Amino acid sequence: LMEAKGIVKSYGNVQVVRDGTVEIYAGEFVSIVGRSGSGKSTLLYLLAGLEQADSGTIRYKDQQLSAYSEEELAVWRREHIGLVFQNYNLIPTLTALENVAFPLYPIKMSANARKQRAMEMLEQVGLAERANHRPHQLSGGEQQRVSIARSLVFRPSILFADEPTGNLDSATGDRIMDLFLQLREEHQLALFIVTHDVEKVAARSDRRIEMKDGRTFSHEAMEHAK
Ligand code: ATP
Ligand code: MG
Repeated sequence: LMEAKGIVKSYGNVQVVRDGTVEIYAGEFVSIVGRSGSGKSTLLYLLAGLEQADSGTIRYKDQQLSAYSEEELAVWRREHIGLVFQNYNLIPTLTALENVAFPLYPIKMSANARKQRAMEMLEQVGLAERANHRPHQLSGGEQQRVSIARSLVFRPSILFADEPTGNLDSATGDRIMDLFLQLREEHQLALFIVTHDVEKVAARSDRRIEMKDGRTFSHEAMEHAK
């Protein structure tokens, strides 16, 4: 589905990603682990089209991301990928339902259809009965469910998540992981999840990538080198 080869990204004169090479197949769950500062989040932003690589190639199906204009890239992001972060990034003044419906505003859609789609997504994450609650009235796990519902409104084929269980207690984190895996089954959704939690998150992935000093390694290669 996606492939990144030899990605390099510097901020100032610091090379944050030196050789980012990743393949993600349709419906596959790829986890990415590594020390703080090793470049995991940066790699995620590059793959998700939120940052531009200095060199290397990133392909989605048969399109190179670098061939897109800013506007085309924004459309690509909206239509094909979902994003989930550690702190949920919900809008505090909006209800759960309005937060989920939010990405739909720029497209032509009736208010009713928008509401219906958002409700459908809330149902998928098991939160329909919380539709009219605002973020501060929801637990962390529930807020993360809302953010996952929001990431799915355009029915993406790949979900990028940066430490999605990082702010949650272990049992709640487990349930969020159950939800990701359930969504993957139901929608053939590929998952690319950055995590510090090797036992509960990375262990459940199909494939683990390790990052060290801006370079990506397969888990097997890392084990072999030890
Ligand atoms: P963590 O596990 O702590 O989240 P990480 O592996 O996700 O770490 P990154 O966030 O990718 O690491 O950051 C890698 C390095 O790049 C860090 O030294 C960071 O300070 C630097 N960096 C990241 N984004 C920027 C930016 N926009 N401008 C300048 N430096 C940046
Ligand atoms: Mg990070």
